[in-house]
Amino acid sequence: MLVIGIESSCDETAAAVVRDKKEILSSVIASQIDTHKAFGGVVPEVASRIHVENISGVIQQAIDEAGISMEDVDAVAVTAGPGLVGCLHVGVQGAKTLAAVWNKPLIPVHHLAGHIYANELVTDLQFPLVALVVSGGNSELVYMKDENSFEILGQTQDDAIGEAYDKVARVMGLGYPGGPVIDKLAQQGKAVYDLPEPKTQGRYDFSFSGLKSGVLQFIKRCERKGQTFTQEDLAASFQKAALDEVFDRVKLVLEDHPEVKQFVVGGGVSANSGLRARVDELRQEYPDKTFTVPPMRCCTDNAAMIAVAGEIAAEQGRVADARLTADPGWEIC
Ligand code: ATP
Ligand code: MG
Ligand code: FE
Repeated sequence: MLVIGIESSCDETAAAVVRDKKEILSSVIASQIDTHKAFGGVVPEVASRIHVENISGVIQQAIDEAGISMEDVDAVAVTAGPGLVGCLHVGVQGAKTLAAVWNKPLIPVHHLAGHIYANELVTDLQFPLVALVVSGGNSELVYMKDENSFEILGQTQDDAIGEAYDKVARVMGLGYPGGPVIDKLAQQGKAVYDLPEPKTQGRYDFSFSGLKSGVLQFIKRCERKGQTFTQEDLAASFQKAALDEVFDRVKLVLEDHPEVKQFVVGGGVSANSGLRARVDELRQEYPDKTFTVPPMRCCTDNAAMIAVAGEIAAEQGRVADARLTADPGWEIC
């Protein structure tokens, strides 16, 4: 099956053509990071306007780079939610138009299902499965007993982990987005500073806001006392604490659910080198299970993952019509 995917839920305008859930023929991403950098985060109204400017060109480029014609395409998949409402509407309208003009099935895709199905590009998913979704707006442990079936086992009680990376980067004066910069610094440092351990109630829930405040308080305390610290060691300390928080819960889930065949990670933070090293450790620890992370270029927002999740949804007959509209609060289950 040949699917064109479209994604515009936040600050990336993206379109991609994927064959049979595995072969990325094209993946075009127009990022707005440089525009939003000046504000230290995404400004929704500005983001929607730039999506409108970019969407047609991005779709055209994806078709051209794939070397296909719209006639060859079997379905048009689009992120219909969750996300920023004005941003989502641009992609949905683009997809509806494309599907109507070429008389193709229109497939709405949940953005987080997209992040999870980015792993399908690497290997066929095996169920039951546990997915760790770690992105700019989400931190969740999701149980999938079958294709396109999602049950949330645990989630963050406050900030998302990517949001914590971005906020910590801001207080450290490292710019936006903070994840990749902190990741790089952390590789050069040692986790030698004590930061507060998060406290959560649910067995599989996360918390990151106390850790974020802990970094701010650490910096202020050092300034007050005239103590020096290195950015590298602070980044490494934060990253270790954040990943401990995540992987303590992951281990509990794996212990409680021995029937789980595969563990996958999705979302922007799955690009993190420390996180990938922890997944390698789990792979050694549980040789009977499959551990998968998405290809590096499919961790942060992209449309290849939407095309893949779209093909699965299409196989299940989850087709929409011209009345499809963006759903900014779409629950995954
Ligand atoms: P959501 O998917 O929840 O709607 P989003 O789409 O904004 O949120 P993504 O594009 O999936 O988020 O991920 C962006 C986030 O990933 C940012 O917070 C960014 O800092 C973080 N990130 C990207 N690369 C890394 C990295 N190497 N290490 C840690 N965090 C990273
Ligand atoms: Mg983004
Ligand atoms: Fe995302």
